[in-house]
Formats: sequence, C-alpha cells, structure tokens
Amino acid sequence: MRRTLVIIKPDGVNRCLIGEVIQRFERKGLKIIGLKLERLKVYQLKDHYSHLSSKPFYQELMNYMTSIPCILLVLEGKDAVQVVRTLVGSTNSREADVGTIRGDFAMSVQTNIVHASETNEIAEKEIQRFFKEEEIIEYDQLNFNWIYCGSEKEQYHPSDVEWKSDQEQYAKAKEEKRKIE
Ligand code: UDP
Ligand code: MG
Repeated sequence: MRRTLVIIKPDGVNRCLIGEVIQRFERKGLKIIGLKLERLKVYQLKDHYSHLSSKPFYQELMNYMTSIPCILLVLEGKDAVQVVRTLVGSTNSREADVGTIRGDFAMSVQTNIVHASETNEIAEKEIQRFFKEEEIIEYDQLNFNWIYCGSEKEQYHPSDVEWKSDQEQYAKAKEEKRKIE
C-alpha cells in the first residue's frame, strides 16, 4: 500500500468544500488514515514550497496558505499518489479536466482547492512534515474486500499477511501433531 498527503487549502475550507473533496477520495476507495484541521505554520510551508521560493507568486502563495486553517489528510491505497493526483487534476484549474476536483470547483492557478503529493518519495517526506506518527492510525476497513481483487489484496493487505501466517502456523502445528500421533 502507498500513502499520500492531501491538503484541503484555505479556499476549499472557506468555500465549504471539505465534505465534497473528502467524499471524492472516500468513494474512490482510498482509506483515510490521518485527518485534522490545522493552521499551517510558516516554517512548515517554507519547507513544503522550498522549490518555489524564487517564483514571483511565492509570497502570495505563503499568505494564502497561512490565511485560515487547512484540512490535512493522509490517504492510503494501491498507487495512492498517482490515483490522488489524477483525481485532483492539473495545477491550473482553468485547464484541469472536468471530473477532477480542480476542474469541477476552481478557476485559479493558485487557489486550486487541494494539494496532493507528486511522488512516493515526496509523499513520505510531506507526511512526516505535517503528521506525528501517533496521528496516523491503521485499521481494517470493512469495504476492503470489495475494493481490490484477490491478488491485489494478498499483495497489499497487512491483515491478510497476518491471517496467512496464522494459517501457516496452524498448518505446521497440525502437521506436527499428526506426526506425533
Ligand atoms: N502556484 C501558483 N502559481 C503558479 C503555480 C503554482 O500560485 O503559477 C501555487 C498553486 O497553489 C500550486 C502550488 O503553488 O498548487 C504548488 O505548485 P506546483 O507546481 O507544485 O503545483 P501542484 O503540485 O499543486 O499541482
Ligand atoms: Mg506540487
């Protein structure tokens, strides 16, 4: 399983789109394993947008991102990073595909509702930047069996691995008992 970071930015919060955005991730089949409302700090955003620090829009971007609280999410799923980027759409909302979050709800290059990590490596760093370890909660979700096919589940579901090793241990114990008898 892969994890990715999503931020519902101040425009998403102010435009009352929190529920709508989260619903899109939920109904796709992504699992929410981290969720909080937080006003982002300048030092966090300096790291987060360090690659944009020389851009003319940088200061405006920092002001916007610190203006009111954001919603922060950690989502889990197979190929979660790419799946979420596809659901979010391209940076310039005016050009984003219809059906994507930015394509459906935004008109701006800057106020484009959501942030989503771009690669697996970046996602890991971004999750660590915004979440403490104890704020991420692993659990079994009941709809899991219907979201992935058998081989995907075997490969990716941690409790399947546990279940399998339980079964292996049980089979071994049974075999040993049989030998003794
Ligand atoms: N941004 C901006 N002006 C630009 C390009 C980007 O204000 O010309 C902002 C916008 O909010 C964008 C963020 O900077 O989401 C990060 O830019 P990036 O190129 O990483 O886009 P993203 O990964 O969010 O699609
Ligand atoms: Mg980016």
